[in-house]
Amino acid sequence: MTVIYQKVALIGLGLIASSMAHAMRAKGLAGQIVGHAKSAETRAVALEIGLCDHVYATAAEAVEGADLVVLAVPVGAMAAIAAEIGPHLAAGATVTDVGSVKQAVIAAVQPHIPANVHFIPGHPMAGTEYSGPRSGFATLFDNRWWLLTPAAEVDATALSRLRDLVQAMGAKVDTMDPAHHDLVLAVVSHTPHLIAYTMVGVADHLAQVSNSEVIQYSATGFRDFTRIAASDPTMWRDVFLTNKDAVLDILGRFAEELFVLQRAIRMGDGDQLFDYFTRTRAIRRGIIEAGQDTSAPDFGRVSASKSTDA
Ligand code: NAP
Repeated sequence: MTVIYQKVALIGLGLIASSMAHAMRAKGLAGQIVGHAKSAETRAVALEIGLCDHVYATAAEAVEGADLVVLAVPVGAMAAIAAEIGPHLAAGATVTDVGSVKQAVIAAVQPHIPANVHFIPGHPMAGTEYSGPRSGFATLFDNRWWLLTPAAEVDATALSRLRDLVQAMGAKVDTMDPAHHDLVLAVVSHTPHLIAYTMVGVADHLAQVSNSEVIQYSATGFRDFTRIAASDPTMWRDVFLTNKDAVLDILGRFAEELFVLQRAIRMGDGDQLFDYFTRTRAIRRGIIEAGQDTSAPDFGRVSASKSTDA
């Protein structure tokens, strides 16, 4: 493939940034990849395993002369990073981010972007429960959605160049309004994560179920909750703090549905339970037909690096 950006600056060198580095290297999409992370340890690892050609102690130095800057830090860290790099961005550069929430990131970043720089917010809907510079792999984005939420007045050439990069890394691209993105993600990712965290917390509190029993019999559904509940605490704290309204909306609806099912169980209303589960089964089949999961036994989860939509 051909080089799409001459110099890519990755700010934050964790799961998403390292997967991007691997994917761009594997396909020759970047002339040079440079990076910055908060800790000297992460920066040293990034050099050691060849994620970056150069690493810098500050984000401001890393973005000098870059034609693509990727903000790949937790959502809560975006504002300070944007303020730092704003004055150092090259004219004509594109800044994108990979944050799991879009409205809060846009509010935090946009004010610091100079008029001659293109800001195109983004969100790769791919991830695992692992984090850090060693957790990335080149195929993370294969066949996964990467949502872009550009402003209406976005530069069409800059948008199509970023779209080319994302597609060349293996992802499918769609554009979306930021508020709609946050609502959709509250349904498909954020609230399910909260439920998983809660369920694992409940099991932990259950004195009657010994640890060994929970682990031994976890394949019966609970195991997927534990995998999701092992996701990075900083990232997920920031998701819930910044997508508060949408998550509270979906959580309210969830609680109402839960009470409906709770009542059906209490009243022994088998018809209602059967109808409800028939409806949800059809949704699952739709997901498989859309190619977003596999119908293989055990959900095809043969390795620990199964991707989730974060
Ligand atoms: P990660 O593996 O935990 O890595 C985060 C990186 O950001 C680390 O390199 C960390 O540096 C760096 N960092 C944190 N605060 C910083 C600061 N103030 N200044 C500079 N660097 C800082 O995280 P990730 O999973 O790649 O997530 C990154 C972003 O992608 C988040 O916004 C998240 O919402 C989004 N996202 C995540 C997933 C997922 O499933 N993981 C999926 C889609 C989108 P140190 O190592 O030195 O601390």
